[in-house]
Amino acid sequence: MNILVLNAGSSSQKSCLYGLDDSFATPKASRLPAEPIPPLWEGSIDWTYPAGAATIKVKTAKGTGWQQTIHDRDQPKVLQQLLNTLWQGETQVIADPSAIAIVGHRVVHGGQRYRASTWITDEVKQAIADFAEFAPVHNPANFQGIVAIEQILGPSVPQVAVFDTAFHADIPPTAATYAIPYELYQQGIRKYGFHGISHQSVAERAAHCLGRDLADLRLITCHLGNGCSLAAIAHGRCVDTTMGFTPLAGLMMGARSGDIDPGILLHLLRHHGYTVDDLDRLLNQESGLKGVSGLSNDLRQIRAAIATGHERAQLAYDLYIYRLRTEISALLPALGGLDALVFTAGVGENSVEVRADVCAGLAFLGLRLDHDRNAQNLKDVSLATPDSTVDVLAIHTEEDWAIAQACWQLAHAS
Ligand code: ADP
Repeated sequence: MNILVLNAGSSSQKSCLYGLDDSFATPKASRLPAEPIPPLWEGSIDWTYPAGAATIKVKTAKGTGWQQTIHDRDQPKVLQQLLNTLWQGETQVIADPSAIAIVGHRVVHGGQRYRASTWITDEVKQAIADFAEFAPVHNPANFQGIVAIEQILGPSVPQVAVFDTAFHADIPPTAATYAIPYELYQQGIRKYGFHGISHQSVAERAAHCLGRDLADLRLITCHLGNGCSLAAIAHGRCVDTTMGFTPLAGLMMGARSGDIDPGILLHLLRHHGYTVDDLDRLLNQESGLKGVSGLSNDLRQIRAAIATGHERAQLAYDLYIYRLRTEISALLPALGGLDALVFTAGVGENSVEVRADVCAGLAFLGLRLDHDRNAQNLKDVSLATPDSTVDVLAIHTEEDWAIAQACWQLAHAS
């Protein structure tokens, strides 16, 4: 069974094709192994470079690469070019489009309605379009991807939506409700949480790596990429998360502010002549590491500047770590303790310093990081000392594999 995964972001479209047969499924049930298999083909579209054009890059498991810049911004046309490389030219891995059994999409917002992955019907499509009100950048891109696949592969190809909000859909009302008039909650203004595909899959893999049953564990997963969020996971279920109604809430991020006093927004609107668009840009693109340092949203550049004595880079980094420590600590009551702290995504997987500095602030829990193991950037094994009360892991997030797993499970359940 060939499963095509599409992961559409605001500025890029990532895609991969997994070739799976029944030998990949675990003997017990309709589940694929936690450990990902390498995709047959990987492709991406960068909509930001060069300006006004799109750059397509493809590589296959056999090591063949291909790249092209297209002077066109039309999503279906560019996607068609990308997918053509699956069945044409040097990167060909399948005979023709009919060899694709299922297409799985990462969909950012599924509202309160979608608590699990689902086959895409006209009703689901409409709901994804409607939730664009809550995710104005991502859901339209997801919707267009679904429509483009119908055009390219034909309307009968089965498509699956895997929602970034689904894992958080059952957080208790005390975690989901904002202390504003309840009528607004009833209109959908509540905490949704994001990065759910990543949080859920790294939690499952953490349990697997520790040789423990997920049902016995209390975990905090730290997804630290350009966007950053935490999830508190008790017995396999998310009980709270730091992102909220939008992906702007919670931790300090690369260029997003995370939580700030909402009174600041009122002040800027009333006294500094800000428009709504100005605020949007300020909070989503000009804040976080970038805003405080005045340099960059990229942690590597912040670290390089700190090495040259740049004071605001140091402040930005210290604040980033402080916010991580305080937000991790704030989730502890929801779990009643902590068995493992799991780091993932660009920063979480790669930054030895971030892991060390976050863990140093959690020593009061009895958490002891093994600095040698941490410095080796080991993945999938505990980075804590044997006497630590809390395990620490760095796990590569495999969102695409998680989407393929969801497709496989739906196909084997029906
Ligand atoms: P996205 O959220 O866009 O998927 P990623 O998960 O790829 O982002 O994370 C991107 C961030 O990861 C970069 O901005 C960079 O700060 C950070 N990063 C990547 N590699 C390293 C590294 N070796 N050390 C520290 N930070 C890193």
